[in-house]
Amino acid sequence: MNKRDSEALASRLASQGYLLTDSEQSADIILLNTCSVRDNAEQKALNKMRMLIGRSKLQERKPLFGFLGCMAQAHGEQLLEEIPGLQLVLGTHRSHKLPEYLEALLTDREKKIADCGGMEAPPVFLKDHIVPEKNSNSPLVSAFVNIMHGCDQYCTYCIVPETRGKEFSRPIADIVDECSSLAKNGVKEVTLLGQIVTSYGKRLIRPSPEGLSPFVQLLEEVEKAEGIERIRFTSPHPKGYGMDLVEAYGRLNKLCQSAHIPLQSGSNRILKAMRRGYTAERFLEILAQLRAVQPSIGVVTDIIVGFPGETEEDFQETINVVREARFDSAFIFKYSPRKYTVAAEMPDQVPMEMREERHARLMALVNEIARESYQQKIGTIQEVLVEGVSRRNVNRLQGRSRCNKIVLFEGPSAWVGTIRKFRIVRAGQYSLYGEPIETEKNK
Ligand code: SAH
Ligand code: SF4
Repeated sequence: MNKRDSEALASRLASQGYLLTDSEQSADIILLNTCSVRDNAEQKALNKMRMLIGRSKLQERKPLFGFLGCMAQAHGEQLLEEIPGLQLVLGTHRSHKLPEYLEALLTDREKKIADCGGMEAPPVFLKDHIVPEKNSNSPLVSAFVNIMHGCDQYCTYCIVPETRGKEFSRPIADIVDECSSLAKNGVKEVTLLGQIVTSYGKRLIRPSPEGLSPFVQLLEEVEKAEGIERIRFTSPHPKGYGMDLVEAYGRLNKLCQSAHIPLQSGSNRILKAMRRGYTAERFLEILAQLRAVQPSIGVVTDIIVGFPGETEEDFQETINVVREARFDSAFIFKYSPRKYTVAAEMPDQVPMEMREERHARLMALVNEIARESYQQKIGTIQEVLVEGVSRRNVNRLQGRSRCNKIVLFEGPSAWVGTIRKFRIVRAGQYSLYGEPIETEKNK
């Protein structure tokens, strides 16, 4: 989500005449877009800013420094006092004010601005995207599209409802327009973005006469957008996986066979304390329903270890669910107490060494299962959207399969932006190696 927000702001500034640079050394303005979801993300941003400001004291160029995003929203004006040399602190709801504030700050380099106010009604959605020049060797192939702001779920560990505010959804037509105009610029794949996308349109759109939730209605409309060939979304909430969404995976050709469904814990006691609103059994039932419709669906999850009160037994239940669910991959987080959250005040906080130890144990299991799931793809044919040159080896191209696995292969750069079929011949820990096969589509 931060990546998308950064792209939209960078694009907005570019349209006003600012030039984007790849190098911090040559920048006149340095803006760090920050995350607040765990403490280490905040510390990273603070350290980076202190380092950049410190370094600027030794050089002639004195860039303007600013913090954007969730940490700016959560800490507000006090950041200006804590970090001398910082000129701007701009919260999540006010980012559209960036061009105006930069102009004021560039005119008066002694001035400082902190704006971390609330959401405007209706909130502003930035639709700007960075579209590379025609014939660029890294064209825009896959894009993120925001469909909503905020989250009303208030999981007891999570700072997001505080930093991103109340849920607010964009109208379907607006979203489809954005997808269509991206398609005109060569985009083949859109990832619909929101903190809780399955709650999309909750108070805005009624269920359809056939009982389709607003989110599934949106998927159906994006499916019709000409030029878009693949649809993904993130993050959903398990409570949003009604049969209408499960069936959509069978019905909508463009909806990819992949899902990022956050489990958070396999213990019902902990799920309740997290206020997640489902049980481990229900979670596994959703996976079974999805796999019945799309057997090759790739499933990724998020898990928190060491939530307050988590015992070894609770942790073992998470291990059991992970064994049963057979995720293709999982993001595992050590619980991090966050200001403004209920869980931070709970008794029985789990010691850090225990959180680290459980993290390592779970990671080993997830990696073992992931290795097997990647190995099982050897010999299969995968349809890949070619995204560009591999980051690790410039002689290879890379793309993603419909089940969201990275596929690496050799081929001409003219393939970038096309959808082609490959036979998988080898598997790494988190990537597949393919050989092109001749099919009608590849030609
Ligand atoms: N809205 C998304 C993502 C929220 S943040 C969702 O509900 O899935 C991304 C992930 O960070 C969460 O899924 C959760 O696993 C993790 N997370 C959130 N708050 C955390 C905390 N206080 N400590 C550790 N991990 C946390
Ligand atoms: Fe945070 Fe996601 Fe829960 Fe919303 S649904 S409170 S964003 S973890």
